[in-house]
Amino acid sequence: MKRGGIAILVLLYLVLPWVMPTFYVTLANYIGLASIIALGLVLLTGVGGQTSFGQAAFVGTGAYVTAYFTTVHGISPWITLFIGLAVTGVITLLLGAITLRLSGHYLPLGTIAWSISLFYVFANLQGLGGYNGLSGLPGLHLFGYELTSGSDFYYLIWLAVFGALISIHNLLDSRPGRAIRSLRGGAGMAESFGVNTAVVKMWIFLYAGLLASLSGWLYAHYLRFVNPTPFGLNASIEYLFMAVIGGAASIWGAIIGAGILTILKQWLQDLMPRLIGRTGQFEIIVFGILMILLLQYARQGVVPLVARRFLKPRRVKVPESAVALAQRAKPAKGELMLEVRAARKEFGGLIAVNDVSFDLKAGEILGLIGPNGAGKSTMFNLITGVLPLTSGEVKFRGERIDTIPSRQIVRRGIARTFQHVQLRQTMSVVENVAIGAYLRASKGMVAASLRLDREEEARLLFEAKKQVDRTGLSAHLHDQAGSLALGQQRIVEVARALAADPTLILLDEPAAGLRYNEKVALAELLRRLRDDGVTVLLVEHDMDFVMGLVDRLVVMDFGEKIAEGLPGEIQTNPAVIEAYLGGVE
Ligand code: ADP
Ligand code: MG
Repeated sequence: MKRGGIAILVLLYLVLPWVMPTFYVTLANYIGLASIIALGLVLLTGVGGQTSFGQAAFVGTGAYVTAYFTTVHGISPWITLFIGLAVTGVITLLLGAITLRLSGHYLPLGTIAWSISLFYVFANLQGLGGYNGLSGLPGLHLFGYELTSGSDFYYLIWLAVFGALISIHNLLDSRPGRAIRSLRGGAGMAESFGVNTAVVKMWIFLYAGLLASLSGWLYAHYLRFVNPTPFGLNASIEYLFMAVIGGAASIWGAIIGAGILTILKQWLQDLMPRLIGRTGQFEIIVFGILMILLLQYARQGVVPLVARRFLKPRRVKVPESAVALAQRAKPAKGELMLEVRAARKEFGGLIAVNDVSFDLKAGEILGLIGPNGAGKSTMFNLITGVLPLTSGEVKFRGERIDTIPSRQIVRRGIARTFQHVQLRQTMSVVENVAIGAYLRASKGMVAASLRLDREEEARLLFEAKKQVDRTGLSAHLHDQAGSLALGQQRIVEVARALAADPTLILLDEPAAGLRYNEKVALAELLRRLRDDGVTVLLVEHDMDFVMGLVDRLVVMDFGEKIAEGLPGEIQTNPAVIEAYLGGVE
């Protein structure tokens, strides 16, 4: 954001309590408390795609821990804050460990179960005051001054809001941030570039939980009493709704969403009983209808809807120069790189790859060809650890790799592209390519949140730019990947694979959808790669493209290797001609 915008925000922050009536200060405090929680959900759900119905229970954990330890044991709230965060942290890690490794809806279900059970724990434990809760919490003292009034808390609460906002903003614009942003749309791609997606999900679940717990601590000392009501499942759903309404993937959306919902709820609680003539939580009905309308007409939420009209998407700053990232030593020409031995893959009764063997030497471009459904992409998935072998083995530079997960395989120097393009469509080209270099850097979430990663980040983006230039996409550096033609998106995939600094690169139909000139440029690039010591395994459909380029060919048909040899030999091989023309006869 511009300097002027920040100055206005700071000024607003400082003077609001002076110019607003108390009622509005109170409202602002509630909005702030909810914003902290919604910000966590923007990270977890909006960006990371993991839904939690348990945030209110984490708020309750922070609130109850401080209520209990300050009133019963007389411990300072500044200590109980950290006890609350620690307890919440342990719970999120346990819940995460149980549910996050499983795909599907285990996290939402797990958090619902946790939410309901914790509510009854709060309500039924005598030590926690049952439904009446705990009262008489001490105020907060800061530099000898006691925070008592609503405006005192206003300053503290909104300081926390801005702290959370800035840290999440920083985080999303970083190496771990790109990993988080690539969780949506399947973990396969991120894992193929070394991201441990289960761990990343755990981190953001923890982060969101800690923010909720912090909000609970503030809430408890602001109101000076706690009871179970605000920490139930419906409160969790409201927090989710806030994140969605504002724009689930936008950090300002969290605050706008918290604002809209808090004010609306206040207003409906006044209005609905008058309309209906009875008291009750009727606002829930309106919220439900709103939710449906929103999902129907503005899935991205309110903020992106408005922002798209008025704001240009933010560009990442790519440095003019930076210290190059460390590079792998290239193997000597002729070294045995890849050994595939009797690789077999069965899908139920279908044998997609039937005991196929071949070798690949350093400095070679090997073409893997065959008609549709021959098993070429499956072969790629076996080599890169995306699919487990039914039998057989794969060795890379003498070491077995069919027993290790894909994120370990890329670490050894094998990078790939996907036949079905797996770019993050709303991320820019340079950011997509930077995901490829994930393993060549190391700064984590804490460093990124605190902006202690800038030097490394500059090196990463500089490397990404280098690969974008190398693949001839310089003009599209800052374009959204999804805005490129499909053929160009494939080339972005090549750039991303190159950013991993591979010694072996696997390309699955990179020339599909390219125009003639673009194909010539791609062939030129692949030859240059070979000269730079990168070994290439190329799956391709386009015979003309392959024949002039590769050193050797392996031909597959119905899962079997039917031929292997020099392009000239393959062109005249009767079995190959039969396989390619057989279906046409
Ligand atoms: P190619 O890339 O050579 O066109 P594939 O490797 O994609 O072929 O597919 C080989 C065969 O395996 C096809 O018959 C395809 O339908 C089948 N197949 C591929 N992936 C799966 C899967 N995940 N589950 C079941 N069958 C699959
Ligand atoms: Mg394929």
